Amino acid sequence: MKVLVADDSIVMRRLLESSLAGWNYQVLCAKDGAEAWAYLQSDDPPSLAVLDWMMPVYSGLDLCRMVRALNRTPYTYLILLTARGEREDIVEGLSAGADDYVVKPFDKHELEVRLRAGRRIIDLQSELMHTQEALREQAMKDALTGVWNRASIMEILDREVARATRDSAPLGVLMLDLDHFKHINDNYGHQAGDEALRGVAARISSAQRSYDSFGRYGGEEFMIVAPGCDEAYLISHAERLRNAIDSQSFKIGGKELHLTASFGACALDPELHASADDLVRAADAALYAAKHAGRNAVVYHHPVIAQRLD
Ligand code: GH3
Ligand code: MG
Ligand code: MG
Repeated sequence: MKVLVADDSIVMRRLLESSLAGWNYQVLCAKDGAEAWAYLQSDDPPSLAVLDWMMPVYSGLDLCRMVRALNRTPYTYLILLTARGEREDIVEGLSAGADDYVVKPFDKHELEVRLRAGRRIIDLQSELMHTQEALREQAMKDALTGVWNRASIMEILDREVARATRDSAPLGVLMLDLDHFKHINDNYGHQAGDEALRGVAARISSAQRSYDSFGRYGGEEFMIVAPGCDEAYLISHAERLRNAIDSQSFKIGGKELHLTASFGACALDPELHASADDLVRAADAALYAAKHAGRNAVVYHHPVIAQRLD
């Protein structure tokens, strides 16, 4: 763990540096408030800082206020080192944002345990942040396949529709539905069905472009949001994905299963699609047409087709 030691006395700096290094901290040294501030506001700041109260440029007290005003995560644990041990000084230091203080001349053992207390806070916070991140991820991903869930992919689509409309940029949507998937469940069991869904999701994920977004819309239906795709590109892209599923069988439960999918494609036309929902409806109508046409096919949505199907 990285610790900043800021003190204008070279003797004090050396003393602190050797003690902290002995307790296995990675030590950064600053000889005044300006140097300390440069470390504290850098992109990779120390997790803990031991700050002398009296220093040129910025005092330890100034630095506490400045760090707290940054209001950044992860948290920086601040210990004030002071020759001033009066009660009002301590109150002033803590209310400036210091987490703790050590009175000079310091007792080595006391400093060690106070640093350890700081380290515990930092470790707990980092654990909490990881858990939060994992929960956020979990809430956005489909549990079975690991791709975006319906709410997330719709949110992505909303955002992309707004962006493409604003920038007059192309945007494509593909809806993909596995063909006769019920047969897989009926003939091989639900677990094999799950495995097949995972396999298809993995294959599409690795076949898609890096700036596409791929999510499970529901059941055995998936959605791909493809920024920058006009009609022609979207059709060839869908054809590539269709072929990725059709061309190679899936090994499921020790058996080789052949799966196919039908695709409905539609590119955003601000004249026709006022919202993401309109675009999804259009791609869905095209998917329905692809099923109608015999499955394992890509159909691009044209308003005329949709009218005929309605
Ligand atoms: P079509 O070609 O017309 O799409 O036929 P289909 O059989 O794929 O379509 P249908 O909508 O009749 O059936 C979809 C099947 O997908 C039924 C359902 O049990 C199965 N399914 C949906 N979600 C899951 C899942 O999470 N796991 C498994 N194993 N099966 C699922
Ligand atoms: Mg299906
Ligand atoms: Mg379906």
